[in-house]
Amino acid sequence: QAAPPQDFIRQIVRDDLAAGRHKAIHTRFPPEPNGYLHIGHAKAICLSFGIAKEFNGWCNLRLDDTNPGREDPEFVQGIKDDVRWLGYDWHELRHASDYFDVFYRAALKLIGDGVAYVDDLSAEEMRAYRGTLTEPGRHSPYRERSVEENLDLFRRMRAGEFADGSKTLRAKIDMASGNINLRDPALYRIRKVAHQNTGDAWPIYPMYDFAHALSDAMEGITHSLCTLEFEDHRPLYDWCVDKVDLPNHPELWQSVVAAGLEAKPAKPRQIEFSRLNLSYCITSKRKLAQLVGEGHVDGWDDPRMNTLRGLRRRGFTPAGLRLLIERVGVSKQNSVIDYAVLENCIREDLDATAARRMAVLDPLKLVITNLPEGHEETLSFPNHPKDESFGTREVPFAREVWIERDDFAEVPPKGFHRLKPEGEVRLRGVGIVKCGQIVKDASGNVTELHCTLDPDTRHGLPGADRKVKGTIHWVSATHAVSAEVRLYDRLFSVPAPDSEEDGKSWLDHVNPEAKRVVRAWLEPAAARVEPEQRFQFERLGYFVADRVDHRADAPVFNRTVTLRDVWAR
Ligand code: ATP
Ligand code: MG
Ligand code: MG
Repeated sequence: QAAPPQDFIRQIVRDDLAAGRHKAIHTRFPPEPNGYLHIGHAKAICLSFGIAKEFNGWCNLRLDDTNPGREDPEFVQGIKDDVRWLGYDWHELRHASDYFDVFYRAALKLIGDGVAYVDDLSAEEMRAYRGTLTEPGRHSPYRERSVEENLDLFRRMRAGEFADGSKTLRAKIDMASGNINLRDPALYRIRKVAHQNTGDAWPIYPMYDFAHALSDAMEGITHSLCTLEFEDHRPLYDWCVDKVDLPNHPELWQSVVAAGLEAKPAKPRQIEFSRLNLSYCITSKRKLAQLVGEGHVDGWDDPRMNTLRGLRRRGFTPAGLRLLIERVGVSKQNSVIDYAVLENCIREDLDATAARRMAVLDPLKLVITNLPEGHEETLSFPNHPKDESFGTREVPFAREVWIERDDFAEVPPKGFHRLKPEGEVRLRGVGIVKCGQIVKDASGNVTELHCTLDPDTRHGLPGADRKVKGTIHWVSATHAVSAEVRLYDRLFSVPAPDSEEDGKSWLDHVNPEAKRVVRAWLEPAAARVEPEQRFQFERLGYFVADRVDHRADAPVFNRTVTLRDVWAR
């Protein structure tokens, strides 16, 4: 068991527990259900769920569904599946919409306390009044409305009397603040759009900062972990938490109690960390949706997509992803992680956990002419070279085998250690074969190699130690099972597809070579497997039986990652 990770957030948690500030810690992961989770979310998930687990606390899964019309139940199910797949489970599943009544009452309280007002400025006017970094904002002409007028107007907003965008509820903070988020930010807006959980019940919807702070407080979240872009929002987050003061105002959350939900409001603390940015990846949900919508990929779970479901279908492992997040660490420093770091984490996990098999992706027939016609036998192969607990398997061998076409070269380049005219190579687990006749078709393509097997070098005999430079894999042509193999590669051909340099759009960088489908031959033991079983196909890479399309009688495999980094320059 590795030592628990150390980072500034875990240190804060440790200190808070030691100082007795909390009996237990409570975190949450708050995705908006407007798309599927992506590799960036893995960091937020591993942090919030991981820290809760390490410190014997709880983590809620909260669906931040405050934007009506943008959210789809399909995504809700997808988010739940993906979090579980990564290896986590939540204490409670909540929706921000569970608290719509709390938000509304909290808003009435703020109005009553004279710290919120209804504004009639349009969105555009509000922007103009807001000022800039160097210039303070101006007061709205509606800022000094009386509490009574504000209460009346806000109740009428709630009753649906006003048109979308015609009025806004704003916090009364400081139009001259150096932090623009504190220049009387909007708390509520009018939107007459049906909501997937609350239907037409609400014509007004809370703004993110208000809803997020109060949701955290409502759930008794102790440490609210979020990405750095919310750092400037923290003063507003604290303002909402303090001014509403849920712990001392149970009348604001009667609806939550009435709904039978646990209610232990507390004062949460927001802590920011830097996002996970990976080269060759896109982590904007809008752009991921565009890839799907415009057919650049075959769906949200296309193995080329860096959504969690895409990575899953590609064969990436939860443990490999968790390893990446651990390696990347937690800090406030923004950086871009090389995609190769992710691939290496996956290789590391798969090297230890994936059994070995043989497959030939681009077959060339090799006939062993000194074995009798129809000769076949069964060999025993270890399933893992470094771990005996994987056991052994039977591999059929016959007079005719398939080898990779590029393991033979008629005109070998310098340093080529595989099969060449008159050359020798070891057939893995069999013995040394020598190349004899090269059979070609009418257009000069090599169709068959006729070889002889040196009987003294058969596996297990003393002569098997005879030195030969190359060892190649093979599959018995008599027993091989045909399979569809999808060779995936990086979806973008440049490290920063998003950079928009030289006037190119990110879509111009979609790598047309990122999916190639071939017909391959598998040894029988690689075919009789369940979907999502992962293997190393020797010398080729790691592969997974496709989650959706694989069948034992019609195998379909996806290449997860090659054995070595082929992108390194
Ligand atoms: P988008 O802006 O594309 O809709 P989002 O990041 O806002 O995506 P959310 O569903 O709001 O998506 O994200 C849920 C949580 O995941 C947030 O707390 C957010 O900070 C975190 N998160 C999102 N992307 C990353 C990332 N690249 N690295 C770490 N955390 C992330
Ligand atoms: Mg968001
Ligand atoms: Mg967002």
